[in-house]
Amino acid sequence: MRVHHLNCGTMCPVAARWLLAHPEDPQPHLVCHCLLVETSVGLVLVDTGFGTRDRDPATSTLARDFCAMSGPRLSPEETALAQIRARGFRAEDVRHIILTHLDPDHAGGLVDFPGAKIHVLRAEHDAANNPRSFGERRRYRKQQWEFGADFRLYEAQGEAWKGFDAVRSLDGLPPEFLMVPLRGHTRGHAGVAIDCGHGWLLHAGDAYFYHGEMEQPPQCTSGLSLFQRVMAVDNAQRVLNQSRLRELIKSSGDDVRVFSAHDSCELAKQRALSQP
Ligand SMILES: [Zn+2]
Repeated sequence: MRVHHLNCGTMCPVAARWLLAHPEDPQPHLVCHCLLVETSVGLVLVDTGFGTRDRDPATSTLARDFCAMSGPRLSPEETALAQIRARGFRAEDVRHIILTHLDPDHAGGLVDFPGAKIHVLRAEHDAANNPRSFGERRRYRKQQWEFGADFRLYEAQGEAWKGFDAVRSLDGLPPEFLMVPLRGHTRGHAGVAIDCGHGWLLHAGDAYFYHGEMEQPPQCTSGLSLFQRVMAVDNAQRVLNQSRLRELIKSSGDDVRVFSAHDSCELAKQRALSQP
């Protein structure tokens, strides 16, 4: 199983220097860290970032306030589709997409892979299609999956995995892929764990935004802390999950490599570690 770490969307938010605390990065920005996994059942994507439709003003469904706040660069070569083709694969080779959640910076590329099965927690699908609050109505873009997306929905429960509940037996996927419910940022937010044979990867989605939040004691700018609190549907659960992730990192050592969706330093580190 070969894992590629892709950036499927670069965002330069307003007040980036206030929000982002990467002293290593002279131009603070957010990435959309997605995984492309070569498996015996075809290609598997974990999150999609922005898609080709998002990058064309004529077809984009991204909300104006989302673009104003997050400053997506939307360059065509950053789509998952373009990067998959650059590696010699076709869109049809992507058989499965596992989503951490359905926010537009994670689900925008679904439309580029109409034949793929899309795995997501049922609670997230409900939140996006039957929003209960003003916040839920505003954050999701249903147009990103209204082409007849082939969803496979799961309850947020299952077997134990390293102190977390995990959903195993994802329809058609090898047993190395697990969904790890991490409710908080959204109603049905989940991490995705992959057993690589020599250790685990855990894509934690938007459970946290900055690698310093996984340190002891946790570090984050006040701006980014505030942003995450405001965006969370269940902030107490989000904070609790962050502390559970810190525990996991402490107890598992090199056996589990945890990273989030938007931290550019984590993306660079995981790319370096995955070099053959
Ligand atoms: Zn996100």
